[in-house]
Amino acid sequence: MPTHSSLPSTLRILFLASEAAPLIKVGGLGDVAGSLPSALRMIPGNLIEGRSLDVRLVIPYHGEVARKLLDPQPVASFLVNHPNGPIPTRAFVTQVGDVPVYMIEGAPIGTEAPVYTGDNYIDGLKYAYFSLAAVELARHLNWQPDILHANDWHTALSVFTLAKQRLSRDPFFAQTRSVLSIHNLPFMGAGAERALDEFGIHPVRDSRLPEWARQFPLPLGLLAADRIVAVSPTYAQEILTPEFGCGLQDFLISRSSIISGILNGLDQESWDPTRDNALVQRFGIETLDQREENKKALLQEFDLPYDPKIPLLILISRMDQQKGIDLALESLAQAANHSWQAILLGTGDPIIESACRSLQAQFPDRVRAAIRFDTRLSRRMYAGGDILLMPSRYEPCGLAQMIGMRYGCVPLARSTGGLRDTIFDGAKDRPNNGFLFEEVKAEALTQAMLRSFDRYKDREAWHQLQVNGMTQDFSWEKSAVQYANLYFDLWENQR
Ligand code: ADP
Repeated sequence: MPTHSSLPSTLRILFLASEAAPLIKVGGLGDVAGSLPSALRMIPGNLIEGRSLDVRLVIPYHGEVARKLLDPQPVASFLVNHPNGPIPTRAFVTQVGDVPVYMIEGAPIGTEAPVYTGDNYIDGLKYAYFSLAAVELARHLNWQPDILHANDWHTALSVFTLAKQRLSRDPFFAQTRSVLSIHNLPFMGAGAERALDEFGIHPVRDSRLPEWARQFPLPLGLLAADRIVAVSPTYAQEILTPEFGCGLQDFLISRSSIISGILNGLDQESWDPTRDNALVQRFGIETLDQREENKKALLQEFDLPYDPKIPLLILISRMDQQKGIDLALESLAQAANHSWQAILLGTGDPIIESACRSLQAQFPDRVRAAIRFDTRLSRRMYAGGDILLMPSRYEPCGLAQMIGMRYGCVPLARSTGGLRDTIFDGAKDRPNNGFLFEEVKAEALTQAMLRSFDRYKDREAWHQLQVNGMTQDFSWEKSAVQYANLYFDLWENQR
């Protein structure tokens, strides 16, 4: 396609998310929305031909955010269309580092509701409203975005709305293009249909989408997006298959020319074992021998004996079926004849929580289950554990394995999604930094576990595995440059 005008030196990006650290974080999406906008703004000009990105973030003005902020500045007051009458809306702005963050306030968002209630009718009302309001905000600020970048089902309707406005030849958004990132495909916003009806968003007739998906927020966004990004190259391929496509695989195959995969980065400052004040003993590659002090302290904290010959496995995870924790528990039992110790940290599904407690009851002299959310403990575990268990059934990107590797804790993971893109075990062109298994079966995990135990006995080989993980580049800069190139490409080639 010929370009009609040359790429501006600064591209304006409106970045929408339901949560963004440090203002509000519930899960991995909060980490991404809290770090990618800033990483995009900070890309050195020489990596993107002297251009720059003016990225602005929009989130709902959640009650928890309101309580944290001392001095939010009101920036706009406007109405959002609703069939029963327009909804009064206010927007505030604050600055987080170098990123302007807009926050939308209005009745459907409420002042006390959690970020996600788990009831998709209620969440559907909130996020349908937020998506429409965020698009309107740009108009009221008279700030024409070149790219609108939405994330997951909560903000996917902004992409859908933008496409409708472009169809109706709205001059304000005529040049705006859209990107929708998929962080977790199974969460499509099912249950939000009635909420969408109330906003006048009815099922589409497009036969590319399966009938059941025609009024779910995420599929509507995926139908309308100019580009779709999955959060790892492998996940971008996996979602085209029946195993991971959640019924949308044929539709996604029809859109595969606009789908790409970009790995999430890790916040290198927050996750740095040389500066982490939660650790008993800070360490780096040069001082890796001092890491052992963290293992001793961790075992002592959990009243387990220390023996340098026994590998300590750790698991730090949401307790969800996705994460394959059942496989981990079964494998540990299968490997009972070998020496190992394990500390499990997580909360979530009560059945999985209680299975973890049962393993502790079965092996009281070597298993501990900490059923809670505890970031400081997680840091001590990454620093003191030898092997990080991550047997996920699917893993769009995964951060825990990256954190583990930064902290010298070697991952033992299922070869899927972002785990496959960051962990190398017998790859031709990459040095080994962990252990992978393929089949979703405890036997497959047990085999890989026994391989890791064998390797653990060879101190030098183990040290090399740790160093390979610790020197890997998980920075946001690399991924941010990929996003920037995607924006530039979209801007140049789709108008
Ligand atoms: P997901 O986003 O699917 O939960 P990720 O691996 O991308 O999985 O990110 C999980 C993040 O949450 C990691 O930073 C991990 O350390 C943290 N985490 C998970 N469970 C706990 C817990 N119980 N206590 C502290 N941190 C946790």
